[in-house]
Amino acid sequence: MVQARGIMLRENVKTIGHLIRLYTNKNATLNGTDYPEGNNSSDYLAQTTMYLPENFTYSPYQACPEKLPYMRGLISINMSEISFDEIQEVFSKDLDIEPGGHWKPKDCKPRWKVAILIPFRNRHEHLPIFFRHLIPMLQKQRLEFAFYVVEQSGTQPFNRAMLFNVGFKEAMKDVAWDCVIFHDVDHLPENDRNYYGCGEMPRHFAGKLDKYMYILPYNEFFGGVSGLTVEQFKKINGFPNAFWGWGGEDDDLWNRVHYAGYNVTRPEGDLGKYKSIPHHHRGEVQFLGRYKLLRYSRERQYIDGLNNLIYTPKILISRFYKNITVNLIPELAPVKDY
Ligand code: UDP
Ligand code: MN
Repeated sequence: MVQARGIMLRENVKTIGHLIRLYTNKNATLNGTDYPEGNNSSDYLAQTTMYLPENFTYSPYQACPEKLPYMRGLISINMSEISFDEIQEVFSKDLDIEPGGHWKPKDCKPRWKVAILIPFRNRHEHLPIFFRHLIPMLQKQRLEFAFYVVEQSGTQPFNRAMLFNVGFKEAMKDVAWDCVIFHDVDHLPENDRNYYGCGEMPRHFAGKLDKYMYILPYNEFFGGVSGLTVEQFKKINGFPNAFWGWGGEDDDLWNRVHYAGYNVTRPEGDLGKYKSIPHHHRGEVQFLGRYKLLRYSRERQYIDGLNNLIYTPKILISRFYKNITVNLIPELAPVKDY
């Protein structure tokens, strides 16, 4: 599977020229601290917006700012294994974390209510590492948030995209979330200024991954960590349900977003850096049908997604997340011939 990624890289970053163009695209315009897709040149641009000073005083009646004093930039990442008992201990004094990992700031009004959805099967050792890292970062960012671990049972190949659709529908039953983040369990943000709110446009948070030498592997890459407002996600009819096994579902989401008239933004420069927890691909299969499905992205967008999905979840609430377990089979997302 690692090899499969290699092939994907070679296919998409075809030449050194392509890479240089990625780095020097002068056509794009800056949008706040963001850079729009196709522009990887933001390292050269001065950061103009200021982070607030430490003596900044919050008001419970005002929206939390986006650039808070405690968001200082690169943060250290602790990947050492830890048990759930041990992180219970780490957060034992934090009584504001409600069951399901639901937290909201008290000193200001959260700008975004963010549901963090995590597709999951058999990566138990990653979860506590993930929460130990993410909870303090999101608290510093003064967002309201909760975690949904959407777990696939049964014997079908893993279906990351369908899990996200299930997670979305379930999360929306809980709270009026306005922003949803689709987050691989093994991705840890390296910069606490990578703000996990949404925006006018769908966002790709994970532009620079350590496993790709911090280079965007190809312009249309939308994997790892992405986020859409609830409105945007409904408008694109969610993820496709038909991608069984590894690969392609993130590229289809990219297509859906663009067919719906959106562009994608990414955090500027080093803000979008991530480290991934090393893992083995245990018996995962590549989805060989992905190239064909991707050719029909447009035709399939409104017949396969949020609108043709049936499922029966099992739900368990624990201290740091809500677990939604579903046994997925293709019959749960029927698609008429097209
Ligand atoms: N995943 C999982 N169990 C699996 C396969 C995937 O939990 O057997 C989830 C997990 O959140 C993971 C994400 O899907 O981070 C993406 O899969 P993977 O890490 O295998 O992809 P790659 O690292 O090759 O991008
Ligand atoms: Mn991974």
